[in-house]
Amino acid sequence: MRSFTYERASSPAEAAAAASAEGAKFIAGGTNLLDLMKLEIETPTHLIDVNDLALDRIETTPEGGLRIGALVRNTDLAADERVRRDYGLLSRALLAGASGQLRNKATTAGNLLQRTRCPYFYDTNQPCNKRQPGSGCAAIGGFSRQHAVIGASEMCIATHPSDMAVAMRVLDATVETVRPDGTARSIPIAEFHRLPGDTPHVENALIPGELITAVTLPRPVGGTHIYHKVRDRASYAFALVSAGAIVQRDGTGHIALGGVAHKPWRVEAAEAELPRGAKAVAEQLLADAKPTQENAFKLPLVERTLAAVLAEART
Ligand SMILES: Cc1cc2nc3c(=O)[nH]c(=O)nc-3n(C[C@H](O)[C@H](O)[C@H](O)COP(=O)(O)OP(=O)(O)OC[C@H]3O[C@@H](n4cnc5c(N)ncnc54)[C@H](O)[C@@H]3O)c2cc1C
Ligand code: SF4
Repeated sequence: MRSFTYERASSPAEAAAAASAEGAKFIAGGTNLLDLMKLEIETPTHLIDVNDLALDRIETTPEGGLRIGALVRNTDLAADERVRRDYGLLSRALLAGASGQLRNKATTAGNLLQRTRCPYFYDTNQPCNKRQPGSGCAAIGGFSRQHAVIGASEMCIATHPSDMAVAMRVLDATVETVRPDGTARSIPIAEFHRLPGDTPHVENALIPGELITAVTLPRPVGGTHIYHKVRDRASYAFALVSAGAIVQRDGTGHIALGGVAHKPWRVEAAEAELPRGAKAVAEQLLADAKPTQENAFKLPLVERTLAAVLAEART
């Protein structure tokens, strides 16, 4: 690990201002960042610890939704009575991720910003446009079983690994931030994560030094909340394919996929097909899919996962 300096910020505005300096980075639970620092994939020269910023509360909003502080731990969010009652999809997605110990440390903001699990991203002997822009992509033509089947580019075919982010996308969450100049803004979750395009190292809409302060959920919409995660092991594994859904009694609903793209994958037009069944939805969701030979199995797996979701919604 490279040496770095460290400070504990005492207000969000102070943290954001400090983070605009070259080489500075926030640290929250550290469950992703520290691993990347040990491998020298991330090499910040200055860490700004955000754990003292009093951003660890879950509050009801005047509109009847929830405001989840950026520092709320994944365990606390999954266990919150209001989340379990009104946003069950979010609770289920969180509990499908990582392990109890990791969830005790992992935060809401850190989870959204966790980096890909592409094995070549972690292997510093391999070319990787995300780790080192312009170096190439070892996954294209390499081992690509876990990789994206849609929305990828010739520069990168990695997936976003977060389970929680899939639920946030279905729930139409909004990411609240403060920028280094002290101004606040709200970013709809649909615009938060980016597709790789020519710049796979740019993964989200944040500008350098921008601090996430909270994630806001709109009023609950009722319905049956489901999260299905298909993976190689029953625990402690990232999704090959996952589906988060809210299905209403009349068969309408909202749905997003994990494990298939560089960001949670939701196509609102596909949701009109929900009453027609899993095949129709999958066809719309994956209309432009370009799988590799190794991960073509994900296309039928998406359809079967959606079928399981819809069957559960009917019970
Ligand atoms: C073995 C293992 C298995 C896992 N399995 C799963 C899984 O199955 N599903 C899943 O979804 N996740 C899984 N995870 C990932 C885990 O959920 C993330 O590591 C965790 O959510 C990151 O949160 P953190 O607070 O520790 O982030 P950190 O590691 O502290 O930070 C991550 C990134 O977010 C930035 N950051 C942190 N807070 C802020 C803020 N407020 N504003 C702006 N930037 C910020 C940091 O600078 C850093 O770039 C696994 C992790 C491990 C190690
Ligand atoms: S898929 Fe993306 S993260 Fe993986 S090696 Fe290629 S550029 Fe790197």
